[in-house]
This record gives sequence, C-alpha cells and structure tokens, in this order.
Amino acid sequence: MYDLNQIQKDFPILAQTMYDGQKLVYLDNAATTQKPYEVLKAIQEHYAYDNANVHRGAHYLSNRSTQRFEWAREVVRDFLNAGCTEEIVFTHGTTESINMVASGLPETWFRAGDAIVVTEMEHHSNLVPWQMLCKRLGLELRILHFCDDGMLHLDELDSLMDEHVRFVSFCHVSNVLGTVNPIEKIIKRAHDVGAYVLVDGTQAIQHIPIDVRTLDCDFYCFSGHKVYGPNGIGVLYGRKEVLSQLNPIYFGGEMVDEVSLQDTTFGKLPYRLEAGTPNYPGAIAMAIALQYITKIGICEIGHHEAALMDYAQDQLSQICGIQIYGSPEKRIGSVSFNLKGIDCYDLACMLDKMGIAVRAGSHCAQPVMAHYGVSGMARASFAMYSSEAEIDTLCCGIQRISKIFSRR
Ligand code: PMP
Repeated sequence: MYDLNQIQKDFPILAQTMYDGQKLVYLDNAATTQKPYEVLKAIQEHYAYDNANVHRGAHYLSNRSTQRFEWAREVVRDFLNAGCTEEIVFTHGTTESINMVASGLPETWFRAGDAIVVTEMEHHSNLVPWQMLCKRLGLELRILHFCDDGMLHLDELDSLMDEHVRFVSFCHVSNVLGTVNPIEKIIKRAHDVGAYVLVDGTQAIQHIPIDVRTLDCDFYCFSGHKVYGPNGIGVLYGRKEVLSQLNPIYFGGEMVDEVSLQDTTFGKLPYRLEAGTPNYPGAIAMAIALQYITKIGICEIGHHEAALMDYAQDQLSQICGIQIYGSPEKRIGSVSFNLKGIDCYDLACMLDKMGIAVRAGSHCAQPVMAHYGVSGMARASFAMYSSEAEIDTLCCGIQRISKIFSRR
C-alpha cells in the first residue's frame, strides 16, 4: 500500500502555508526535492555526535566518521547495483561528475576527426563540457535530435554512429520534456562502434530502478539533492576498467600516494578522484535518502508518479490555450507547457501567489527551447509526495489566470 499521507508527513516543509495561508503546492521537484525527517536527522546527528574528518585521523571519531562515509559508498553501490565500491566516486553533483569525465578522459583516446555524440535535449551540464572538450581537442560534436513529440530521433543513430565516435553522453530522462529515453538501445549502439557511454541520470534515479550492470553503461551520474538528499553531494559511477583510465582533474590531499617536492604518484580508486576533504556528511545523508527511497520502494514510487503524470497530462490538456511540449511514450517527473498569450514567468509568478511552486524559464536547456521556438516554458515536476489534489490545484490556478488574461 502506497501511503501517500504518511509520506507527505515525513517531509516537514510540505506542511507549510504560503503568503495568506495558501497550502504549499510544491511542483518544482526536478529543480530540487524536499528532504524527509530521516535525512534532516542524519545531518543533525552527524554534526552532533560523529563529526571528524575522514581517512586521516587516528582517533575514535575520525574512524567512526570514516566508517559512516564508506558505509554511504556501499549504500550507493547497492542502490546502483555497481560491481564494487571503487566504482563509486563522490562528487558535488552531476555537473561536477560530467565535467570530471569530459576533462579527465585521456587525450590519447582521441585522434583528429573523432567525434562525440550528445542529444538535442541535454541539460547544459551535459552539453557545455562536451563542447569545451571538442573545441580543445578539435573533435566533432554530433547531435542526436528529437522529434516534436519529445522522443529521440533514433533513425539518426544509423548516420551518427560510426567508427569515429569515441564517446556518447545523454540523459536518461529529459529535465524539460520528462522523456524516458531508450538508453539500453543507445548504449548498445555506442558500444557496437567502440564508443564509451555516460548516462546523465539526474532526472531518472529518483523515479526508475537503476542497475548499471544490466544497463552496461560506462558512467552514470546523479545529484544528491534530487534524490531527497542534501545539496553539494553527488555521484559518479564508472565501470572500474574505464574509471581507472580517467585522469584526476583536481589535485591535492587524499588523492595522492607519494609526493616529493617535484613529483607525485596518485592513489587508488575511488580516492584518486576525490581530492580534498570530501562532503562526507552529505554522502551519509544522501545514503539515508536512498535508504528512505528503498523503504518506500522505487517501483512503488514509479507507479505512483506514472499515474500522476497520466492524470496531470489529462487535466492540463483540457485547459484552453495550453500548449504541452512533447507527448513521449514514456514520460516521468516533468511536464512543460505554455499558456497562450502569457509569458511563462508571469504565469509562474501568478501561480506562486496561489501557493503553487513551478519553474519557468529555459530550464538550463536552451537548445530544447530553440527546438520549439520559445524562450521559456513553465514546468510542473512531481515527486513521491505529489498528489492528484495538487494537480487539481495547479490546473484550477492556470484556469483562473487564463480567465484573467482573456478578459484583458
Ligand atoms: N542534468 C540534468 C538532466 C538535470 O536536470 C540537472 C539539474 N537540473 C543537471 C544535469 C545538473 O545537476 P546539478 O545542478 O545538481 O549539478
């Protein structure tokens, strides 16, 4: 039984009222999710009882802190079904994870004329680092486009994937359209031409069970704050054989083996890629968040959210003057739209006055906006605690705004 009522009670922020007493309707979960008591308690307890820097102290607290940090790594490994904890690198979030890969790939992997493939629906975090790498090494950046329905143009794979492609990087789920991409198919096509693959799982992992070994991707990354965990912590999973070839891009304490005044040898995985004091309180709290997801059940969450998405699309599409972007076969998490004659920021601001939080703008995906010929969109995005009643409130709100504008 999916106990939505209890789940909502677990997130203290949701009980708040806004402005003149409107109940908060938080539909900006793709930007960041709220945190359950268990995560908040874990952060407080860490600083109250366990805090000491990890991996260096010879004292009791440091050892306890280190044990908790390494326990968190094991929780992440288990959540992803990775082969070993050496494959789990803690980062500050997806943006850093992708930059570490794009800047850390050995230059010897590439020859002039080689190519990297990304899709047209990437968040800037999974586009700009690859643009920079291509400019630096003189590589070609190839784009897998999407159709107006929000689904990737898989026919293009035939012309895109050839022996020049060295790396393919794409999102599991679009942060604008909510499209669930057929990643197994793309991973296989990439591997068939000898390319490595990174999957940006930022908008997937909180909705869909992930098994990196079954997916057979080389890298998978996500951010803690989108999985009900804290900010400033994230994960880079890398298949050991590939991760061990990645050059560190940060240098300093923790990541070294031997250091002389003139030279340094680097330590083992994953520490080689974790220079400096890691965000161990964040990693521990993120692990608690992943355990919370497991307790509720990732499949149960997925079912609840899929039903909500069906309901949201159905209700939203009945609003006069609304344009919903895309109609992918599988959509999870996010749905983006515009209301005729109203700027998306005005729409979001007016909804905000009703206690409804949605995001407006380009969603860090300007090429997606360019595809549809708009400068911005409003986006409603759902989480495990979202409800049909909240979707009703959103739709009533949009309808009220529509009426106000149509009278003008
Ligand atoms: N990729 C996708 C698909 C995202 O939605 C986001 C965050 N909106 C990112 C990458 C970047 O995540 P972060 O800002 O947490 O690094």
